[in-house]
Amino acid sequence: MPTDKITDLTKTARALNKRDFECAVVPDANEAAKTLLQYIPPEAVVGIGGSVTIRELGIIGKLEARGNAVIPHWQPGLTEETDRKLRRQEGLADYYLTSANAITEQGEIINIDGIGNRVAHMIYGPENVIIVAGYNKIVPDIDAGIARSKEIAAALNAQRVGSKTPCAKTGKCVDCDAPGRICRVITIIQYRPWQTKIKVLLVNEKLGF
Ligand code: SF4
Repeated sequence: MPTDKITDLTKTARALNKRDFECAVVPDANEAAKTLLQYIPPEAVVGIGGSVTIRELGIIGKLEARGNAVIPHWQPGLTEETDRKLRRQEGLADYYLTSANAITEQGEIINIDGIGNRVAHMIYGPENVIIVAGYNKIVPDIDAGIARSKEIAAALNAQRVGSKTPCAKTGKCVDCDAPGRICRVITIIQYRPWQTKIKVLLVNEKLGF
């Protein structure tokens, strides 16, 4: 296990704890999935944000196998109405699982959304939110976090969904004004919002983008 990264993650975890998030560091995706199963009670309803990281953990199948009701809106062939209904239901879940686009070494959590359901639910709605982030999401400061959110996360997401944006073609953000622009809302969670219990699980592995 590379000790330099663990040391960085431990420092970031301390910064997150100071900001009233409950943060833990785990060595890999397997351990992250095990920890999530401990954090989430078997009877809880779990909403899943649009997150590659969460899917890389294989946690959705594990939760369902254990009997948790899981609400994921990332399903092929949904009508617009069903998609909207599922996103709203995720906000009423007992637990909401997602990642973050970037987390600063000072403990700020940064995200950019196109629709905004993910950032809304991270702040208010579900009583419990668990954010899982690989070491690749850690950045030195807010400017670097916003840059990462656009130039890496949004650009790769645009490619993933085949958006008609410049970044989907070139992999580079040009702060476009394309009708299909996916960067529409930026949030910086500076401290844990009062009515939402937020746990952050930092993983010493590259996860998501
Ligand atoms: S090019 Fe547009 S859609 Fe792509 S990352 Fe930049 S602002 Fe977002």
